Amino acid sequence: MTVSDNVHLHEIHKFGSQAERWWDPNGEFKTLHQVNPLRLEFIQRYADLQGKRLVDVGCGGGILTEGLAKAGADALGVDLSEDLIDIADLHGLETGVTAHYQKISAETLAAEQPASFDHVTCMEMLEHVPDPASIIQACATLVKPGGMVFFSTLNRVPKAYLLAIVAAEHVLKMVPKGTHEYKTFIQPAELSQMARNVGLELQGMIGIEYSPFTKEFRLGKDIDVNYIAAFQRPE
Ligand code: SAH
Repeated sequence: MTVSDNVHLHEIHKFGSQAERWWDPNGEFKTLHQVNPLRLEFIQRYADLQGKRLVDVGCGGGILTEGLAKAGADALGVDLSEDLIDIADLHGLETGVTAHYQKISAETLAAEQPASFDHVTCMEMLEHVPDPASIIQACATLVKPGGMVFFSTLNRVPKAYLLAIVAAEHVLKMVPKGTHEYKTFIQPAELSQMARNVGLELQGMIGIEYSPFTKEFRLGKDIDVNYIAAFQRPE
């Protein structure tokens, strides 16, 4: 598989076609807006962001990338959707938050700039690519020795099917229909193994739990649906 093969173009078009609504806090990507403070909190448990160089892989319209920049990081967001890179740039101009964006694959960036970033984030992206292990490898290459790499994804267990697809897409309509496909979900043990294979060491994992009663997300022990993991590239 070549670098340019590790992409489902239909995924890029699906997300890109919704670029203009990316920053609507009550729109299709409301969920990403809601979970953003939680993932920033988790990231900062392991990584000091102030003055640090970060890359956010599969950044979309830049919701997390801007959050990283606001927390003091020199943040670069990369994605293969031109429309989303444009929206991310535009939003940065509107808000005055200085993050940088580039349309480039994780693998190409890793070949160009190995061991160049203090920390790496890659959220809600692995389940949208043909070969997640290749993205994980690229992230491990991008980070400096001693730096952290964060991944979030969905767990491939029936509960995630019921909550992330049946409930979130069809019943509660929290995310657009067709956003996720169950077979692409990744179990925590699989994520850990793929990361271990490229020399990353697991430091911690946490669930992003949703309460249908309060309609709010929180960090918690339940990693059966959506979860974030923190890995370190050893010194
Ligand atoms: N990480 C962002 C966006 C998640 S949506 C956030 O959590 O806020 C998934 C993103 O992955 C989309 O922006 C999509 O364009 C991007 N993506 C999918 N396949 C990709 C690939 N092979 N390389 C880079 N980005 C990709």
